[in-house]
Amino acid sequence: MNNPDNITVTQPLLPDLDEFHAILSDIWDSKWVTNNGRFHKRLEDALCEYLQVPYISLFTNGTLPLLTALQALRISGEVITTPYSFVATTHAIWWNGCRPVFVDIDPSNCGMDPEKIEAAITPSTTAIMPVHCYGKPCNTERIQAIADKFGLKVIYDAAHAFGVEVNGESVLKQGEMSTLSFHATKVYNTLEGGALVVKDAETKQRIDYLKNFGFAGETEVVAPGINSKMDEVRAAYGLLNLRQVDEAIEKRHQVAIKYREALRNVKGIRFFNDMPGVRHNYSYFPIFINAEEYGMTRDELYFKMKGQGVLGRRYFYPLISTFSTYRGLPSAAPENLPVATRIANEVICLPMHHDLSEEDLARILGLIVR
Ligand SMILES: *Cc1c(COP(=O)(O)O)cnc(C)c1O
Repeated sequence: MNNPDNITVTQPLLPDLDEFHAILSDIWDSKWVTNNGRFHKRLEDALCEYLQVPYISLFTNGTLPLLTALQALRISGEVITTPYSFVATTHAIWWNGCRPVFVDIDPSNCGMDPEKIEAAITPSTTAIMPVHCYGKPCNTERIQAIADKFGLKVIYDAAHAFGVEVNGESVLKQGEMSTLSFHATKVYNTLEGGALVVKDAETKQRIDYLKNFGFAGETEVVAPGINSKMDEVRAAYGLLNLRQVDEAIEKRHQVAIKYREALRNVKGIRFFNDMPGVRHNYSYFPIFINAEEYGMTRDELYFKMKGQGVLGRRYFYPLISTFSTYRGLPSAAPENLPVATRIANEVICLPMHHDLSEEDLARILGLIVR
């Protein structure tokens, strides 16, 4: 349990408890608690509308849609991915019996560097799995051009990119499929939860089979599916949270503005500005410490903050490619990943959520601005 005096990196967006009670009564009365219930259907429809995407399939967390996307597309052999992510991205590739191939990242958005992709392609490559890291859109045009040239599928891990738009279009429409996480730590949450965004009704149908053991009707099983269905309680919770997510994103935006104002003239600290034409979701506020210019290493600052109860997080350190399970892969060599290696040693994600007060910000910035 967290000490209440600590400032945590995030805080879950929670629906109004009375409204949640009322909706629970409704579920109790219906006696239908999971398996494609009313709230499940309503949340899928509401999310399609909110996100401006054609089809969405809900999941019980954000890892299973990654696994299922690769299953649905029958991806095999090698999958090109980024080491600068949450470990689930690479795990999903491994769980499908595929080999992850790491490529370096672009420091301007911390996403996969498209210029490094071609050199990583072999005759066994079948797919690319980039991550819109911190909700910053990848260079999707360049990635798609390479995928088209080599006949590869692109599956985006869009766990950070809820509500992100580029030139008025959802970034979730990019690639073959995009996955979302609705974990409590994300901008939009259903406690645990996730989704897969797909382009057409046939693919959604296939995904819906796969997330329910492969059942297509009462007696037919069409694939070795899994169980990753979202239940009615979390779908109802998600419907309530959807009503307040825009307000939460706007509050995060205000926090980002204040961080940028305060950090603009601090030597040795880099941060991201908004990108032109992009609707950001302000899911994270990473800063990157140049130890020489700042006069303190990232870890010195990180532990100083921690000692004062300001719990930033080093997302993403260590790199996935350094974990014992993956470091034996040829592409995991640090020489192959110089940018990711450097950035993993520079980053701290500052506390960022809808409920940070002025006093919280003053306390956080008081430890950083020098
Ligand atoms: C959170 C996250 C996931 C996993 O989502 P869960 O809902 O926790 O299973 C996958 N990829 C990235 C980049 C994430 O941040």
